[in-house]
Amino acid sequence: MDCLFCQICQGTVPAAVSYQDDAVLVFDDIHPQAPIHKLIITKRHIATLNDLQEADTALVGHMLQVAQRLAKQLQIAEQGYRVLMNCNAQAGQTVFHIHMHLLGGRALGWPPG
Ligand code: AMP
Ligand code: ZN
Repeated sequence: MDCLFCQICQGTVPAAVSYQDDAVLVFDDIHPQAPIHKLIITKRHIATLNDLQEADTALVGHMLQVAQRLAKQLQIAEQGYRVLMNCNAQAGQTVFHIHMHLLGGRALGWPPG
């Protein structure tokens, strides 16, 4: 499997991992766009948001729970933070293994561009 994020899950590509469980892995984005920029990825390979199935509803809910918990631990919950998933080319998706960005630690502009 030549998927970068699968390789990070397997430990063959290094990453600054801050949390993991049976379903998800969290690590620092290598090109942070904010003082806090974590990626929450599924351990199972799913290419894009378009590929999520009804049966994955709990998995996505879990990703959001992990994001919420991390935001509290990192003390950005009260000031505010952003979670987002880019889907396909026009949204800027570059790694085709779904991931949720968790961004915080500065004022975030809107619209995102
Ligand atoms: P996206 O553009 O939504 O597909 O996001 C992919 C993200 O993965 C980008 O923010 C990249 O900076 C990040 N990224 C790419 N390679 C690595 C890596 N080896 N370790 C950590 N983050 C990475
Ligand atoms: Zn993958």
